[in-house]
Amino acid sequence: MKTSLKCSCGQRVARRDVMQQGFYMQHVSPSFVYVKFRCSRCKKLGQQFVKQEEWEDGLLNEATTEHTTEEQKRFAEMGSISLEEMKQFHLSLERADSVRELLTDETG
Ligand SMILES: [Zn+2]
Repeated sequence: MKTSLKCSCGQRVARRDVMQQGFYMQHVSPSFVYVKFRCSRCKKLGQQFVKQEEWEDGLLNEATTEHTTEEQKRFAEMGSISLEEMKQFHLSLERADSVRELLTDETG
């Protein structure tokens, strides 16, 4: 089954909607990829965790769109996550009840 990211309104999250992406490694597996996005339809902010094993490069790709050089550059920059971002990420995790709860919410 192919995983895709969706906003609560049902709009599929595309790569251009992604504001922040991180990687959350736990002491025990699975690890998670964290994605923060702004929905292109309802403009709401959302965040989701995807199990690393379910993450695939094509997840955020749109079927027909080719990325401009500008976009590629931007994502290359996003690839390196600063310590400050990681700190913010962990703080946001602490505020969340649990990763599993978020995942349950997502799949349910
Ligand atoms: Zn939405």
